[in-house]
Amino acid sequence: MNLTDALNRPLRDLRISVTDRCNFRCVYCMPREIFGSDYPYLPHSEVLTFEEIARLARIFVGHGVRKIRLTGGEPLVRKDAHLLVKMLAEIPGLDLTLTTNGALLARQAQALKDAGLKRVTVSLDSLDDETFKALNDADFPVAKVLEGMDTAALVGLEPIKVNMVVKRGVNESSILPMARFFREKGYILRFIEYMDVGHTNGWRMDDVVSSAEIVKIISAEMPLEPIDPNYRGEVAERWRYTDGGGEIGVISSVTHAFCRDCNRARISAEGKLYTCLFAVNGHDLKSLIRNGASDEEISQLIARIWGKRDDRYSELRSENTIDLPKVEMSHIGG
Ligand code: SAM
Ligand code: SF4
Ligand code: SF4
Repeated sequence: MNLTDALNRPLRDLRISVTDRCNFRCVYCMPREIFGSDYPYLPHSEVLTFEEIARLARIFVGHGVRKIRLTGGEPLVRKDAHLLVKMLAEIPGLDLTLTTNGALLARQAQALKDAGLKRVTVSLDSLDDETFKALNDADFPVAKVLEGMDTAALVGLEPIKVNMVVKRGVNESSILPMARFFREKGYILRFIEYMDVGHTNGWRMDDVVSSAEIVKIISAEMPLEPIDPNYRGEVAERWRYTDGGGEIGVISSVTHAFCRDCNRARISAEGKLYTCLFAVNGHDLKSLIRNGASDEEISQLIARIWGKRDDRYSELRSENTIDLPKVEMSHIGG
């Protein structure tokens, strides 16, 4: 049975955070001063097992989900992530993908592909090591992330998409070099507006570089024109180079909210269902599972939650919403 929410939006896309841990400390996501060695990460026993995730995934697919993205935290720091991929890949009719910072991708790409992963999105905010470090606070070489992407392409995890978050005053100067480089490579670069997700990153509107500004910067050197979305509810707006040199995407979650078509649900590493990236509370599916609920009972609860959903945080964003409590991105995944 396909579900629609209170604003008539279907449920199509499920993002599953497989861990709240990460080997990077990106300043816009897990700033080191908060996510230090004493940060109370979830104990292993509180994180959904692969079997629990796969069971939930099947129930969600029964409700119309067609795409599952594994995320985190950093999904590839979860031990044997490819075994989860294998379990999910057995579900028919599913577009299965994963978002990673790329640090562990080179060594895992083949196993992920063999397990049935279709493609990957790799996050990279600059080609310059100093700038990259200023953002990920982990002193990890750009070259290793590029190696991860290339290995993924080599084993057939394509098309490769690259996510770049732009923070004013930090990596604006990387916009053009990134555009040139990935145009050459044929990977689809997507620029993400810096969002006020969570409450630890000290977000300010002044730090946001708008999609319009990004398109203008690139277009001045390599002219772009807008193209139609691949499907309704696609997060990235697509632009192509007028000379036929490929396309880029811009994700304007701040300056041009796309809640109207939002068909995404998220499951946190500890098994809570969130119906918005900016939600305050999740619905505890793990307790239900661990207390012996049947698939039917879980399915009915999901249907009730989605049926009532009226989230549209980005459309309502204002000075008043910025300081509201919100769950961290590393808990529920991007
Ligand atoms: N660790 C993986 C990674 O970085 O690709 C997956 C999880 S990460 C939370 C998913 C995506 O969210 C990444 O592309 C990241 O750049 C993006 N992201 C994190 N914090 C953000 C923020 N405050 N604003 C915009 N995008 C953000
Ligand atoms: Fe880790 Fe990804 Fe968040 Fe960076 S954006 S801290 S890589 S989870
Ligand atoms: Fe969807 Fe919430 Fe983002 Fe709007 S703010 S697009 S409802 S996740």
